[in-house]
Order: sequence, then structure tokens, then C-alpha cells
Amino acid sequence: MLPERVERSRPTRSRYATIIIGGGYTGLAAARRIGELRPGEDVLVIEASTIGEGSAGRNSGFIIDLPHNTKMGGHTSPLEVARKQIRMYDDGRKWLEELVREHRIDCGWNPAGKYHAAAGDKGVASLRAVIDQYRQWGISFTEFDREGLNEKIGTPYYQYGFHSPNNVFVQPAALIRGLADSLPTNVTILEDEPVLALDETMPFVVRTVNGEYTADRVIIANNGFAKQLGILRDRIFTIFTYAAVTPRLSDTELARLGDSKEWGVIPANRLGTTLRRIQDGRLMVRSAYSYEREQASEKTRELLTGCYKRRYPQMKSHEFEYMWGGTTALTRNGASFFGELRPGLYASVGCNGAGVLKGSVFGKLLGEMAMGVDSAALTDVLGFDGPTWLPPDPIRKVAVTSAIRYQAAVAGPER
Ligand SMILES: Cc1cc2nc3c(=O)[nH]c(=O)nc-3n(C[C@H](O)[C@H](O)[C@H](O)COP(=O)(O)OP(=O)(O)OC[C@H]3O[C@@H](n4cnc5c(N)ncnc54)[C@H](O)[C@@H]3O)c2cc1C
Repeated sequence: MLPERVERSRPTRSRYATIIIGGGYTGLAAARRIGELRPGEDVLVIEASTIGEGSAGRNSGFIIDLPHNTKMGGHTSPLEVARKQIRMYDDGRKWLEELVREHRIDCGWNPAGKYHAAAGDKGVASLRAVIDQYRQWGISFTEFDREGLNEKIGTPYYQYGFHSPNNVFVQPAALIRGLADSLPTNVTILEDEPVLALDETMPFVVRTVNGEYTADRVIIANNGFAKQLGILRDRIFTIFTYAAVTPRLSDTELARLGDSKEWGVIPANRLGTTLRRIQDGRLMVRSAYSYEREQASEKTRELLTGCYKRRYPQMKSHEFEYMWGGTTALTRNGASFFGELRPGLYASVGCNGAGVLKGSVFGKLLGEMAMGVDSAALTDVLGFDGPTWLPPDPIRKVAVTSAIRYQAAVAGPER
């Protein structure tokens, strides 16, 4: 939906102080911090695709500054872990907001909050549990019944929901491009150049499809694809999830979609459907998961059209203008890997969704850690649990695909 990207830079040498593999939120945040902290050193980001064409640009654009997963605190209680995460996400959101303002990144930054909504009784029960957690955390929310939600989002599909202010909407591809184009001048980005192999002896040799680069320090920030480089193979797996946007809706249709130009709905089940009304008058629908591979696009279209039709049967058409799939990296226990793998080799991978903010925060802290900068936030992150062991394929595949099928069945009307 954006104009074609104009590449920012090309490498002019083969030796760098730091190489970062992956130009998503994690990689670019690490690059920015290292570039800022060591203005005299050169940093190279190597990105397999074009900036914004990967998951960093292909997501639903919710920047949620609340924890998704609080069960990652080792011996600390979930409440303490949640408090640490809330503080960290709050700082991260403020940092991103400052960057957007300072560099005039035109990404539709809109702190509109978010709805959570449930269609079925099980979904309602699960939202009530979320609300209990919000109360514990001191997060404000406003509840809605079916009629109230219908007024806000133009569908009587959901029987119960709530709105909380903890979310900012963005056009994610515009944000990641803006972040890339405003990096310090000592950071070079090499795009459309997948890294094929990493030789893990010092200095590190990074082999790409077209060349070879060496560095004293390497940061792995390619999320689920880290395992293709032999890193954390037994901790991470990738899933694809899918989304589509309608063409711009007519003024009559838009008039029935509530009084706000932009809103978004998080489902009451992990395998449920996310909805978003976008500022330019379109609806976005995101749903479904597949293991390690992208499913056939006809299947995706049918599925997303069904989700849209069930919620908005009154629409004149249920066509989509754009449809896409993207990957995200999951771990068994929902924890990310963050830290130093061996001297000079750092990684932050396994974002478990919600990686726009998490990736930015973890990438920033990883860059600081690699530069020896200590902070309370870094101590907090290093204290979180890491990802637990995963069995190899084919057992892993059977386990994940069965879990997806089971969750999809349990999701029922939330799909
Ligand atoms: C449809 C969809 C909707 C989503 N909605 C949201 C949302 O609303 N909010 C949210 O916070 N998150 C959402 N997510 C998840 C979010 O996109 C990710 O969590 C986020 O992009 C993770 O950031 P990252 O930098 O860690 O990894 P990525 O953004 O995946 O970046 C990793 C980069 O590494 C590159 N790479 C991979 N292998 C190599 C290699 N060998 N060599 C060089 N480069 C390589 C990739 O091309 C990629 O650009 C969604 C994801 C999808 C697919």
C-alpha cells in the first residue's frame, strides 16, 4: 500500500564492528542503539527481504503496551513479572513515540486503545479473567454489552467486550521503513540479501547469497529464521498467520461502523479473529495459523471472507483488496530468547507475536547489553525465563498442528 521502497544504503566494505542479521523491529532497534552508543564504529544490518516486506510490515499494526505472557519470571510471581513488563513496554512505547515525532515518521500513529470482544460464553469467561488481571495491574477499562459494542464497531456479533487505552495503531510498513531510514549514519543496511551461514569463530564470518562479511560482534535478530542458521533450533518454531484488507468502504457503510475513524478488536481466544478499522476507511481481518509453511491462498481467502461475513453480513461486498500471510516465531512456554549465546554473539528471537513493541524494546536492550550499558530494565529482562526445549520434527510438527486444530475447535465463534 506504500510507494516502492528506495534503498537507503549499500555496504562499501566487508569488515564491520557489528553485523546484525534481520531488519525487523528487533534488528533495527539494536542497530540504532549501537550506532548511537559507538558513533565511531560501523554497523551493518543484513536483511533477507526489502525493509517492510517481512512480518515487521505485514502485521496488524497494534502496539500493545501490556504483557501478553506473564508466565516467564522464573521464581518471581506473575504479578511482579507483569509489573516489570508493563514498565518496560511503557518505556518502549515512549521511545518509539519519540522516534516517530523526532523523525516525522508518517505511520498514522494513533493512541486509540483497543477493544477485546467475545462472541461465545467461553470467550466471555476468558475476557473476565483478563479483566481480573487488569484490575490487579491497575489498568483502566470500560465494559460494553452487545448493544454498546454494536454502536462502537458496527456489529452485534459480540455479546461482551471492553476497551482499554493501552494500544497505539500504526501502519506497520510505514513505521519500519521510517525507523530504517532514520538510523544513525554509521549504520548501513543491506537489503534483499539473505544470510546463508554464520561461522561462529571470532571474527565472525557472515556468508550471504552474494558475498562474505566479517565482524567482531554479531546480533541475531531474524526471529523464527534463526534456526535456519543453526541457532536455538530446539527452542523456536515459526507459524504463519493471515490478514486481508477491504477496499475503501462507502460513506454509508462507514457511517455504520461507529463514531471513531479507527478502532481494533482483539479476540477472546488465541485462534480467534482480530479486526481493525483503518483510518483510510477500510476494514482489516486477521485470522488462522499454519505451521512453518504458508497455506494455499484460496484457503486463506475463503477463511478470512467467512470471518468478515459472519461479523458484517450487511456489507455490499465481502471482497478484499489485499491479502497476505506473515510469519511469527513461537516458543513452547511463550518466553523469548534474549542474551549472549557466546562471547560476541547475541540474540533476541522468539517474540511470540506482539513483537512490534517487544522486538523494539528487546532489540534496544540487546544493543545496550552488547555495548556494556547496564540498566534496571536489562537486569529485568535477563531475569525472565528463557524458552523451554521443543522435541524435534516430526514429533514437533504433530504436536503443534494438533494444538492449532484443538485451539481452533475451542475458539468456536471467536474465529
Ligand atoms: C499477520 C500478522 C499480524 C500480526 N499482528 C501484530 C500486531 O498487531 N502487533 C504486534 O506487535 N505484532 C504482530 N505480529 C507479529 C509481529 O509482526 C512480529 O512479532 C514482529 O515483526 C517481530 O519483530 P522481529 O524484528 O523480532 O522479527 P521480524 O519482524 O520477523 O524480522 C526479522 C527479519 O529477519 C529477516 N531474515 C530472516 N532470515 C534472514 C536471513 N537468513 N538473513 C537476513 N535476514 C533474515 C526477515 O526477512 C525479517 O525482516 C503479527 C504478525 C503477522 C504475521
